[in-house]
Amino acid sequence: MPDISEVAENIYMIDNQLFNIPKWGCVYLLNEDYKTLIETGPTNSIPFVLAGIKKIGFKPKDVAHIIVTHIHLDHAGGTGVLAQAMPQAQVIVHHKGARHLVNPTRLVESAIAARGNEFINMHGKVLPIDIHRVKAVNEGDRIQLSDQQMLHFIDAPGHAPHELCIFETRNCGLFTGDAVAVYIPDYDVLLPFHPPPHFNLELCLDTLLRLEGLSARTIYYSHFGISSSVKEHIQRSREQLMVWDNIFRTGARDSDWNEIESKMTSQACAQLEPLKGIKSVELLYEYLADNHIPLCAAGHIKYYQELSNTKT
Ligand SMILES: [Zn+2]
Repeated sequence: MPDISEVAENIYMIDNQLFNIPKWGCVYLLNEDYKTLIETGPTNSIPFVLAGIKKIGFKPKDVAHIIVTHIHLDHAGGTGVLAQAMPQAQVIVHHKGARHLVNPTRLVESAIAARGNEFINMHGKVLPIDIHRVKAVNEGDRIQLSDQQMLHFIDAPGHAPHELCIFETRNCGLFTGDAVAVYIPDYDVLLPFHPPPHFNLELCLDTLLRLEGLSARTIYYSHFGISSSVKEHIQRSREQLMVWDNIFRTGARDSDWNEIESKMTSQACAQLEPLKGIKSVELLYEYLADNHIPLCAAGHIKYYQELSNTKT
């Protein structure tokens, strides 16, 4: 049974069962004159996206735009497959990510090099997209979906250089991809997400500051669901980032990365306490503890190693 809900006026959320984990990944369908999907998830999630769209009452061919916040495979890996099912749809992506949707070979190769074949198996096949269907956007670009709905694109580097946030005018909401954090609404757990190789602390903080300035009323997370505590969430993300940064910054002087990593990991795992031992979120807990947090640690280590290399 597809898990869908109308989370704001004319905005539906579909749980895309990312990595077969309930309530971990979602996409949003905007019901306007030009129907628009934000995020696709990986290819393995596409059956859930299509079932959700059907349950809402639309046909894939009704979709005019597919927008991805960034090209990481858990957000955009299924775009090629979905584009085939949505022949009318234009694919909209950050200008720095566009060529990788047209030719995903390098994207897939670097993912395999960094994380192994298993990583690709988790996501499914990545298909190329016809160059004529891809529209590259930049900071300040906008598209009109109806009289009431205009989308504004915001350059949001820090997690990835090819990340966009999208502000929608009908409800004054903000699609944040991975730029703010991941959020587990049922347990009020909020964690920043900064994997290697692109994590950049200054850019993250600058992005958070700029997003704060938009005075949005709602955040639509890609992981997972929505929140109307926009300022509080941005502030929590910033504070958590600074706690981790403090661990790495002080530790980076003696460069015992193992010790620093375990210090950061135990601070981060303590945030997962509300999920611990609860059967219905067992898979999510394991994913966060075994993947998400170690990736954040690796992102910080790479960032600080590069910083110290440039200083010497
Ligand atoms: Zn993600």
